[in-house]
Amino acid sequence: MARPTNITLCSFCGKSHAEVKKLIAGPGVYICDNCIALCKSVLDKELAVESKKAAPKLKVAKPAEIKSQLDTHCIGQNHAKKTLAVAVHNHFKRILQEPTFIPKEGEDDFASTRHAEVEIEKSNILLIGPTGSGKTLLARTLAKTLDVPFAIADATTLTEAGYVGEDVENIILRLLQNSDYDVKRAQMGIVYIDEIDKIARKTENVSITRDVSGEGVQQALLKILEGTICNVPPQGGRKHPQQEYIRVDTSGILFICGGAFVGLEKIIQRRLGHRVMGFNSTEAGDKLTSVDRDKVLQFVEPEDLITFGFIPEFVGRLPMMTVLEELTEEQLVQILTETKNALTKQFSKLMAMDGVELEFTPDALHELAVQALKKGTGARALRTLLEKLMLDVMYEIPTSEDITSVKITRPVVRGDTKPIIRRKPEQAAA
Ligand code: ADP
Repeated sequence: MARPTNITLCSFCGKSHAEVKKLIAGPGVYICDNCIALCKSVLDKELAVESKKAAPKLKVAKPAEIKSQLDTHCIGQNHAKKTLAVAVHNHFKRILQEPTFIPKEGEDDFASTRHAEVEIEKSNILLIGPTGSGKTLLARTLAKTLDVPFAIADATTLTEAGYVGEDVENIILRLLQNSDYDVKRAQMGIVYIDEIDKIARKTENVSITRDVSGEGVQQALLKILEGTICNVPPQGGRKHPQQEYIRVDTSGILFICGGAFVGLEKIIQRRLGHRVMGFNSTEAGDKLTSVDRDKVLQFVEPEDLITFGFIPEFVGRLPMMTVLEELTEEQLVQILTETKNALTKQFSKLMAMDGVELEFTPDALHELAVQALKKGTGARALRTLLEKLMLDVMYEIPTSEDITSVKITRPVVRGDTKPIIRRKPEQAAA
């Protein structure tokens, strides 16, 4: 049946005023609320795709802001934090640098050409520090606080292409995966390569035979560190000729390499000579205390890394070096109690879920730190010690509903007595 002509209809779907909630009039046209909603969803989808395609917006975090974020998770290591904060700040600036220079008011044309010619190069970073001093933690925290893709790789699993192990391209693949295969975003990401000291050449003399574990990997890494177009196999694994690759330019990716560099202090000491002031051991080759080791490492120069077994080009690609110190007893106590995710806070939270209060006496915390120091694995030992200490209580609590609190004292940590458990009065009396 034909509709009467005097009724207003939606010009898009043809529905009448009575069939929709709202009909909006334009010059000679009408649109109903349903069609508006449909148009909006079409527009939203298209705009979302476009904004994804556009260069991601980045905020340049100030070095002090980055450092204060690192401070909430990591105790001490101020120099390393500052170095990272500055490097990352500059990394963002470099990413945001305009390809063409627009002169500011008052600046001459010469200034414009001068600026345009300046290309900010990236400064990859080398973190030297003992096991469990916070190298990975710092890198991880950076990733969390910054809005760029991040990937962690282990240098010991890498091999030169063609050998058993992982190709270096897989590092970039991880970065791609962490940025949802958005190549533009991956190209401004940060990569942390752990155990970098393990790919040093084992002997100081250049070997005639190929050193698969060391120099070959350095050569392979060198290319991605200095910037190359990297062909990444999207599925990972080894490359094969028929495969399709994703091309990623690594020149904008910031690399942070970390390692313990055991023995580096002897190389530095040898270079500095025997009479280095302030160290307890005067003879090169003497065993240094951890404090002395940290002091000696402050003098590290690129040439020491070359002696350690790195090729000069590789060292040249890590212009920013910083040393993380061995953690002290006091700092280990702080790690146990003060950081955002401090271990004692984690255990307390777990127990609070069962309605149990957990208390550590100050001398218990110090005892834990002392025992961790003896293990020589830095803060890593703390978790192992605590897990072991808490095992029995953690086992018992979920089934014993009468427990109200658990107290850990120094004798408990020493293993002389069991954790002090308080129970609900009526149950205790029974
Ligand atoms: P590595 O220097 O060997 O990379 P990690 O960063 O992996 O050491 O540290 C191991 C664990 O020890 C971390 O998960 C963290 O909980 C703790 N830790 C290490 N150093 C610190 C530190 N300076 N501040 C707070 N926690 C730390």
